[in-house]
Amino acid sequence: MLPPIGYAARPEAVRRALDGRTLIVSAPSDLRWLTSFGGSLGWAVIGPDRFVLVTDGRYADRAAADAAAAGISPDIVVASTRPEIRDHVVAAARGGQVVADATHLTHAAWLDFTRDLELAVAPDDLTIRRLRRVKDAGELARIARAAEIADAALTAVAAQLAEQPSEADVRDELEYRMRRLGADGPSYDTIVASGPQHAARPHHSTGRRTIVDGDTVIIDVGALVDGYHSDMTRTFVVGEPDEQQQNVYDLVLEAQLAGLAAVVAGVDARAVDAICRDVFDGAGMGGWFLHGTGHGVGLDIHEDPFASKVSTDQLVVGDVVTVEPGLYRDGFGGVRIEDLVAVTETGCLILTHLSKDTPCLPSRPTT
Ligand code: ZN
Ligand code: ZN
Repeated sequence: MLPPIGYAARPEAVRRALDGRTLIVSAPSDLRWLTSFGGSLGWAVIGPDRFVLVTDGRYADRAAADAAAAGISPDIVVASTRPEIRDHVVAAARGGQVVADATHLTHAAWLDFTRDLELAVAPDDLTIRRLRRVKDAGELARIARAAEIADAALTAVAAQLAEQPSEADVRDELEYRMRRLGADGPSYDTIVASGPQHAARPHHSTGRRTIVDGDTVIIDVGALVDGYHSDMTRTFVVGEPDEQQQNVYDLVLEAQLAGLAAVVAGVDARAVDAICRDVFDGAGMGGWFLHGTGHGVGLDIHEDPFASKVSTDQLVVGDVVTVEPGLYRDGFGGVRIEDLVAVTETGCLILTHLSKDTPCLPSRPTT
């Protein structure tokens, strides 16, 4: 039994941040954090004297059941058409200073709302996107559970890489096993990127290519538990790694361990990125690193804080972030190693437990 998520305290926490303003909540992840509502269509409006959840007829029961289970009591308004939903949102928000997070609300919705409301962009630090950065015990337990499930699925499936499966076979097996292990589904489209070309693309779309001896195989996989994501990557070599594969693997692991060692509350996320980047630059391989070092994970698979060259975030206790340096080159393939960690006062708690000491060497087929 996982510990409960602290929904009950959130409406007041949001009101405190809003300081008299009224917030229109449109992003599904923000809505779920505030109301626990997990349906596909909903809006919330929260202000000093109001807390309204608007949804459509498909979700009337679910919205009420989710709120009751979470121990919160928004006024639930059920409408049958999108124009009606819009009118209910406007009615709920009317009066006072109304704000919305401009990173999600569409321009069309913004223009539409401003026909009836004085709408302003919510300052960054009072958006729910920012408030939900810090995970409570219930959220951490779900993310950790999701990470365990992905670990177990990949442990089981890695041994099959030597049997010449296709990338899609590996993806399908991973996703099936994660569901069997209790996940609600995969956290995102599982990435299985193999060989000299596909593994050279950090976010390759898993395809039909057959995995063969000598390939580097990047597998990026996560599970979903109660709306919370996990995210991990391991890189395998089928058969004995050649010298270049071993060297690149060792360098990525060195960078990843250095990045992990740098994670602690109070550090700039940009510094974690710089530490990984410096390892690659020092080896003359900086040009093979094609993305940022990490990102927050929670109700979204990519959320604040981001660890990149341009990040302005500072890590805080309760952040859940990835550390995932990688090197990629067309004709070689690629190596990425990604762990999911929870930031603490003294460092971080690593939630990914699968070994990464050396590129996994699936045993060759015995026939
Ligand atoms: Zn990943
Ligand atoms: Zn990631």
